[in-house]
Amino acid sequence: MTIERIIKKFKEIHPGVNTALLFSAYQLANKAHQGQKRKSGEDYIQHSLHTAYVLTQIKADINTVAAGILHDVPEDTKYTLKEIKQKFGDDIYNLVNGVTKLGTIKYRGEEKYRENLKKMFVAMAKDVRVIFIKFCDRLHNLRTLEALPPNKQNRIAKETLEIYAPIAGLLGMWRLKWQMEDICFKILQNEEYRKLEHKYEIEKKAERNQYFLKIKNILYDKLSESGIKNYEMEVRFKHLYSIYQKMKKKDRRFDEIYDVFALRIIVPSIDDCYKTLGVIHTIWKPKTNRFKDYIAMPKPNGYRSLHTTVFGPEGKNIEFQIRTQEMHDESIYGLSAHWYYKGKGSDKSARQPYWIKEILKIQKNLNTKNFIDEIKLDIFRNRIFVHSPKGDIFELPEKATPIDFAYAVHTDIGNKAVRALINDKIASLEHPLGNGDIVEIVIDRNRKYPNKNWLKFVKTKKAKERIKQNSKKTAFNNIKDLIKGNQKEHKHKKHHKNNK
Ligand code: MN
Repeated sequence: MTIERIIKKFKEIHPGVNTALLFSAYQLANKAHQGQKRKSGEDYIQHSLHTAYVLTQIKADINTVAAGILHDVPEDTKYTLKEIKQKFGDDIYNLVNGVTKLGTIKYRGEEKYRENLKKMFVAMAKDVRVIFIKFCDRLHNLRTLEALPPNKQNRIAKETLEIYAPIAGLLGMWRLKWQMEDICFKILQNEEYRKLEHKYEIEKKAERNQYFLKIKNILYDKLSESGIKNYEMEVRFKHLYSIYQKMKKKDRRFDEIYDVFALRIIVPSIDDCYKTLGVIHTIWKPKTNRFKDYIAMPKPNGYRSLHTTVFGPEGKNIEFQIRTQEMHDESIYGLSAHWYYKGKGSDKSARQPYWIKEILKIQKNLNTKNFIDEIKLDIFRNRIFVHSPKGDIFELPEKATPIDFAYAVHTDIGNKAVRALINDKIASLEHPLGNGDIVEIVIDRNRKYPNKNWLKFVKTKKAKERIKQNSKKTAFNNIKDLIKGNQKEHKHKKHHKNNK
């Protein structure tokens, strides 16, 4: 890797931006790491440059890329953070300082894990770009892991799967997540990895390529007839670790070839997305219920695309994902790309996802153990999307119940809930909801307080808190006097004792 390559790439993404800063960051880092070698035998600066290159790819801003080049300078060389501050200013100093403070997060037992996870979240709440740098640093470390002894490889891979990959997912940085996961999978379960790799990369490859070539050729003619130009087509391949997890679950038979691939079409405008969809549906018959318009109705995490599954050639199902370049970048690079397109100039706190602000609130008044439990409760579960009868979408954790839904809609709906209708069928209030369910809550207007037993099955922090708050009020009203009476009696006794 060279600094010239990074600057060239950066200029492609940010035309007109002065890149002199990147070169001076490189000069300092290169001087600082002079003579240092990585375990692989490479010059140390290679690690800094690779980290910065991945940052450039995910569309990070210039200060983040510069901080990526400098990220190991204060840790490993005689140059100090103070010198970085003097030369590059506060923003880059804060980023490098953030990364340095995170240090090497090592997996040692449950407690250590919790401490480290908290550290990551706190750093993230201050400035998410610190985590971007940490992810890219980790990705390059994983790519060069073979130079380390096996026990160290295992420890780093395990820690990546447990801490880094889930956080990357939270930030929508799917491509980084998948890249990290597949390397860890290869290290931790080598045999399974090899089996799947052989199956999907070698055995089925010819069959798959032939099939997609056929589809592409048919589409090519029809799209140009419709005047759609400058589009790109790519085959989306599910990464091996996610196939492995799917197989392990065995909750659904999936087609070994066609469910792990989709054809992505990237077009210049939103208008072209719908035109392309029209073209596809006139060639192949769409499957009912498999068309999703996430452009008109984005997923709560912001995901946008058109999805459709059609009866393709040879009677095989094939999924299409149609989107613009911006939608595509946001779907693979997450928050980082989102800032690139939308966040220019806006202040840092406005650019943070809502849950990062939640974390800041939580961490102030909880110890580490509770902190992680609270976070896991809401954030680390898989998410499902359910609809209200009016078509509003609510994002809930997996296995959430109608009560969780009711409190997500409105506290009053939660407090007064008596019955649920899931997809027009009567269901109990604790029935686990599935993705895409339409949920309606039947309320009793005269009821004032929630049922405390709901605490046994609700899954969201919000429902839990609201039930506690609102039933506290009842309990409080009912036994207020009783408690007062007891306290008086108690005080009186104490007083009496002391006087003895
Ligand atoms: Mn590093």
